[in-house]
Amino acid sequence: MLCDTHCHLDFEAFDADRAAVIERAGAAGVGRLLNPGTSLESSRAAVQLAGRHSALYAAVGIHPNEKVKYVGEFLHELDLLAGQPRVVAIGEIGLDYYRDAVDRAAQCEKFEAQLGLAAAHSLPVIIHCRAAYADARAIVAAWPAAHRAGVFHSFSGSPEDLDALLELGFSIGITAPVTYPKSHALRQLVGAAPLDRILTETDAPFLAPQSRRGQRNEPALVVEVAAAIAAERRLEISQVAAATSANAAAMFGW
Ligand SMILES: [Zn+2]
Repeated sequence: MLCDTHCHLDFEAFDADRAAVIERAGAAGVGRLLNPGTSLESSRAAVQLAGRHSALYAAVGIHPNEKVKYVGEFLHELDLLAGQPRVVAIGEIGLDYYRDAVDRAAQCEKFEAQLGLAAAHSLPVIIHCRAAYADARAIVAAWPAAHRAGVFHSFSGSPEDLDALLELGFSIGITAPVTYPKSHALRQLVGAAPLDRILTETDAPFLAPQSRRGQRNEPALVVEVAAAIAAERRLEISQVAAATSANAAAMFGW
């Protein structure tokens, strides 16, 4: 069995065929899917979807690119959502200095508040980090060690970032850029990282693998991510599937 620990099935891109997409994932051996929220609305939708499909779990959180007026505006509502059945993480949260859609100080405040929420609910976190590894590392390092659990989704940091995050107890999520011809540095990291700290993700509908580049991505295609990890580490895909599924089960408690 494989897991897709990061897919946005609540997005409009899946409105026409959501149930078929979830079925195709099952048929491809992808037995567990995790849908993180990006806003309050998206988090609510993720919780509802998870209630309707037995393979699907939800995370709730406000994405760094999502504008909010002030932290108190969403925190109470998110707190209620975090206590709902089948919610296994807080996410996706973090920092995005690449898009820079939201003031950086406001991003940090929102990130820290949601780490606090995760601690209060004893849930792991799903972290989106783009061009912001120095600040993200500082923020998660200041988070009490007893609460530190989570994944840096679609990891795009340096080898030094990887070492620091592993040391802090985090895992990394690998998405389909690992299948792109030019992703030599990422493949090297995937070869070097401990296998017990790697999760497989799609970020669907985004980041389609090389075979479907530019098209809509979907959870069934996480098989191609696992195949690329297996090739890099000279393992069978079944070994990668077993290891990453065990990692996901341990982190998300399913
Ligand atoms: Zn995402």
